[in-house]
Amino acid sequence: MIEVVYPNLCPNCGGPITSTRAILGLLCERCVPKYDTNGLPSKTVPDRGERVVDAYSRLIGTNSLLGLWDNYIEISEYNKLVGFFKQVTGLEPRSLQRYWLFRMARGESFALSAPTGMGKTTTLMVYAVYSALARKNVLFVVPTASLRDQIQSRLKQLYGSEAVHNVRVVTSTYMNRNVDEIRAFEPELVILDDADAFLKSGKSTDKLVEVLGFSVEAYRNAIELVRLKSLALLSKKNKEEQEEIRKKIEQLSRDLTSTQDVAQLLVASATLRPKGAKQRALRELLNFDVSTVQLYARNVVDAFTKRSLREVLETLKERTLVLVSKDKGKNGIREAKELAESIGLRVGLAVSGRRFLDKLSRGEYNVLIGSASQYGVAVRGIDEPNMIYNVVFYAFRSSGLGWRITSITL
Ligand SMILES: [Zn+2]
Repeated sequence: MIEVVYPNLCPNCGGPITSTRAILGLLCERCVPKYDTNGLPSKTVPDRGERVVDAYSRLIGTNSLLGLWDNYIEISEYNKLVGFFKQVTGLEPRSLQRYWLFRMARGESFALSAPTGMGKTTTLMVYAVYSALARKNVLFVVPTASLRDQIQSRLKQLYGSEAVHNVRVVTSTYMNRNVDEIRAFEPELVILDDADAFLKSGKSTDKLVEVLGFSVEAYRNAIELVRLKSLALLSKKNKEEQEEIRKKIEQLSRDLTSTQDVAQLLVASATLRPKGAKQRALRELLNFDVSTVQLYARNVVDAFTKRSLREVLETLKERTLVLVSKDKGKNGIREAKELAESIGLRVGLAVSGRRFLDKLSRGEYNVLIGSASQYGVAVRGIDEPNMIYNVVFYAFRSSGLGWRITSITL
């Protein structure tokens, strides 16, 4: 394994940290010079929550608490939520449920995308009541009247009628017809159970955006952003036009990140793949990630090294995608190719067309090299998890000198 240093990943000071510490979720040497509890780092590392709480008390002691404060708040919120889950269900949350609870506790909007039977609805109901007890208004939207009654009675069973007071359970038809009334209720958490059918309709999506509290302008901007993004990907425009589109995209994205206070949205879905422009606009507004579960199932290590490309490739050897910084241009790609060939690797270039993909899936290449430009063919949709295992970003100014290595393990 290559020993690496992350340039700015210490969770507390944002400074450099060695991979050994980072992987264990510890802080850098400057923040905590020596870990002495239970012989850390070793096999007996406590879980992430305990580590954060431990580090928190150390930093408070030395008056050096910085960024870890956010972590600490998140973890204690998460611990409370997990405790509540156990209390009301009498069960230990499963690992996927823990992952959802963690994101919920952080106030993220996201899709719980998993097959039936993974405990989506239970997790959502627990969080609904947890939020209601924290005096938040919760809107629970379901597709049918019979589901509405079912959810209502399950909520009562779990917590007694008192806590259900500020949770409203409505059908999607009801919501679409009574947007004003629901807006007056001012939900801070909106849950869409069984959302696939609901989100197929552009009209329902309009209503949802309104209920969440987005302004007409923000919604319009998000739709425009979606339009520009597909334009940037599809069209063969000249350089100036592309540059103009890119600038507009950046501007709109910046505007959107400063949007107003809106409700948290949680969506339960079997196969959420929003296709329409409005649905994709909703994703932009909420910074919504639909591919979460797939990413979660992968074990991704993100690392940084100052070793030479030769050393990196000699270590990784195969199933590696090298993305060359745009600044290095075609020369950079050629250099990388010659270097890889000089150490006996079979090299494919991902610079145009899609034919290299067939060769890649037939296993004809050890290494695939392309440009890291966001419009380059190499960064767009190479879905070959068996053939691409490592991704090396070559010569990126933003992360200083050297390489970033992303290792993806299924
Ligand atoms: Zn630090």
